[in-house]
Amino acid sequence: MRVLVVGAGYAGATAAVRLAGRSRGRVEVTVVNPRPTFVNRLRLHHLAVGRRVPAPDLAELLGRGVTFVEGYVTDLDPDAGRARISGPDGMREVSFDRVVLATGSTTEPVPVPGGDHVHAVGDLESAHRLRAAFAALPEGADAAVVGGGLTGLETVGELAETRPDVRVRLVTAGEVAAWFTPRAADYVRRTLAGLNVETLGDTHVLAVEPDRLLLADGAELPSALTVWCGGFAAPPLARESGIAVDAQGAVITDATLRSLSHPTVLAVGDSGHTPGPGGDRYSMSCQFAFPSAMHAANLLRAEALDLEPRPGRSAFNLSFTARCVSLGGHNAVLQKTDHDDVATGRAWTGRTARLVKAIQVRGVVTNIAVERRIPGVIGWPHADPATRPAAQPLPG
Ligand SMILES: Cc1cc2nc3c(=O)[nH]c(=O)nc-3n(C[C@H](O)[C@H](O)[C@H](O)COP(=O)(O)OP(=O)(O)OC[C@H]3O[C@@H](n4cnc5c(N)ncnc54)[C@H](O)[C@@H]3O)c2cc1C
Repeated sequence: MRVLVVGAGYAGATAAVRLAGRSRGRVEVTVVNPRPTFVNRLRLHHLAVGRRVPAPDLAELLGRGVTFVEGYVTDLDPDAGRARISGPDGMREVSFDRVVLATGSTTEPVPVPGGDHVHAVGDLESAHRLRAAFAALPEGADAAVVGGGLTGLETVGELAETRPDVRVRLVTAGEVAAWFTPRAADYVRRTLAGLNVETLGDTHVLAVEPDRLLLADGAELPSALTVWCGGFAAPPLARESGIAVDAQGAVITDATLRSLSHPTVLAVGDSGHTPGPGGDRYSMSCQFAFPSAMHAANLLRAEALDLEPRPGRSAFNLSFTARCVSLGGHNAVLQKTDHDDVATGRAWTGRTARLVKAIQVRGVVTNIAVERRIPGVIGWPHADPATRPAAQPLPG
């Protein structure tokens, strides 16, 4: 079986090494990624404020069992099993029997006028541009992060801590830190205030101009540098290939991670819209990227080796347990969640949270290396089967 993995972020790299390592030579795994080094996306806001972020060599990380092709998949024909790749040596074509889409996500197109003026941290190139623009801000300048999700909170914390001489604001349509339980939310707001971040909740941005934000209530906020953290969307490949996608361009899958429109396509990580325990899609996160990739590898292995999937094991099943959010380099909060990624119960701060965050941002690369050395060794927490969406039959 020839399996093409498109994208080598957390999900693509994990799916590739696990499948190659467990398929007893019966699967040829090819991975395509636009650059030869691994991007640890969790750290793009670190890169944006000038911190050094290691970029491991991808071919080495993937190991010899996987064929690595540097390039960008520009056309995908799942029915014919063909992909066109644009790489440093020009165009080439690759044939496949199954494709794992692991193209991740990037910052959503800005939904208000003035999108050309914003910066972002959703992808490597944007983070590099932000790094230059942020470093060039004069003392006393105004900067704003728009979007109060977890990435917005982490980003504003980094900016404020790195440049206390810049006036940094967080502008969000909802309540500030609304996702957390009340005590943890209070900690987040106090910590941001301690970093001199001015937080503006329930504030809608109508337009972005080069030196200001125009707000829905008619007010204006000075901002010489605006970072958009409104949300993530998938790259256009799946939509352009005629695969059924949702409004964010993510492949709509059944509970076995297979595309509803094209069963030879499996989608993992941020590029897959898979129903979670509560019926909504699993949140875009590492917590979903790694297990979905490992599950896709298990299914493809079973298919290649003609193994019956273990009863009840073809449907993907993941229970979220906690989220860890940093607020600059010295503060973090570890928030317990229910299986559906809703904040609940206890939250930890201080050393415990900082340590967990440090392990998380470094451990993501280690996970892939461990999976390559001992394929199949890593597991993940499962939700109660009673709350799991029903599995669709595997295609014959
Ligand atoms: C600043 C920041 C902080 C974050 N913090 C957290 C956090 O604390 N916890 C958490 O759980 N999540 C966090 N996230 C979200 C997390 O990074 C994503 O959920 C995760 O990266 C998804 O992994 P992935 O493998 O699906 O996609 P990605 O990591 O995005 O990898 C996708 C890969 O596919 C490649 N690709 C795309 N299109 C093509 C194509 N056509 N051809 C070939 N290759 C292609 C991309 O270049 C990329 O290398 C954060 C995100 C950001 C930006």
